[in-house]
Amino acid sequence: MALIQQVCTAPFARAVHPPSVAIFRCRAFSISSPASASQADPRVLLGMSEQELQQLASDFGQQNYRGKQLHHLIYKRKVKEIEDFSQLPQAFRNDLQEAGWKVGRSVVYRAVTAADGTVKLCLPWTLQLLIKLEDNRLIETVGIPVEEDKVSTRLTACVSSQVGCPLRCSFCATGKGGFSRNLKRHEIVEQVLAIEEVFKRRVTNVVFMGMGEPMLNLKAVLEAHRCLNKDIEIGQRMITISTVGVPNTIKKLASHKLQSTLAVSLHAPNQKLREAIVPSAKSYPLDAIMEDCRDYFLDTGRRVSFEYALLAGVNDKTEHAIELAELLHEWGRGYHVNLIPFNPIEGSEYQRPHKKAVMAFAAALESRKITVSVRQTRGLDASAACGQLRNEFQKSPLVIESDNLQSQSDVAVAC
Ligand code: SF4
Repeated sequence: MALIQQVCTAPFARAVHPPSVAIFRCRAFSISSPASASQADPRVLLGMSEQELQQLASDFGQQNYRGKQLHHLIYKRKVKEIEDFSQLPQAFRNDLQEAGWKVGRSVVYRAVTAADGTVKLCLPWTLQLLIKLEDNRLIETVGIPVEEDKVSTRLTACVSSQVGCPLRCSFCATGKGGFSRNLKRHEIVEQVLAIEEVFKRRVTNVVFMGMGEPMLNLKAVLEAHRCLNKDIEIGQRMITISTVGVPNTIKKLASHKLQSTLAVSLHAPNQKLREAIVPSAKSYPLDAIMEDCRDYFLDTGRRVSFEYALLAGVNDKTEHAIELAELLHEWGRGYHVNLIPFNPIEGSEYQRPHKKAVMAFAAALESRKITVSVRQTRGLDASAACGQLRNEFQKSPLVIESDNLQSQSDVAVAC
């Protein structure tokens, strides 16, 4: 998904994402093999485990502890170039470089705050970063600081999983910008390190709600998840993977038994309305999604969170809330719904719902025993909707052939 629109967001996510944590996504089209090959770059250090780094050091005739030093330099010191690994012998550094190894960090092309255009490092300003990848593609990532109490502040990184997105949800700036390719694992991980560098503090939460549909790049997303959890030491429960729904991938994710949150972007209480908002829904009926979500809970013990972007006059009426509550009760209990009042994007036919409509929608759910949160809207003034900032700086169409969600999901599930 995308950057975070209000905060972060990916499509909506981008258009509407949560500062606190939640989710979104969707879509359809096909990816030819190059785009799907998002696996780890064979000679990139970032993303490798300590054990792999120790093996690498050993392969270069070094002692094991050199691998631990590599791990420390990459993940704790965040050193970006091998030549700056001053703790390592010059000969080892030379050998790595001559063999084509690199750290795998990219350049921050631009940083924008949601409030006043000034990067404020200590608080609650949402910060969007545009990161320029090796092939000159731009991706968005967002840092969202949230004060929890007087002494602690949560810092959430809303990360992208693809360059653009093929799913073209009707409300999403990222979807309107097209799709280019999947991100590699290190390109996902580096977004979190970039946020930590700018804020000068540790990221506490990660949400896969930036540009792209994570389930269409599941292999790289899972590899990045491992690295974020084990190497950067972010708890699994502090990580949320968001999806608009890609056939067969929820089961695949469940098989990994992660303790992270799965967030499913519904945006509508019935199939007909959902197809109008999320075109890819045609390939994944609502009943099938709900069945997979129920099974996900049975397999993992983790309840699915549902994202619902409120679009004025489209899906924000009390009758929609009642229908949504009935749908959720039909498939389980204890579900949580995160409401995201739509953040208008350029060229969108949708409008932001009135505050009264949002409150009435939330009240209708709560009165039916559905727990609800309403995502704060931050960043309305800073192209903060996911995908908008990237679109501003990279106008040329992203390349991709298209069409067929099934072929994409086949690729995703084959990991
Ligand atoms: S188009 Fe892609 S990035 Fe945008 S909301 Fe849909 S799945 Fe998310």
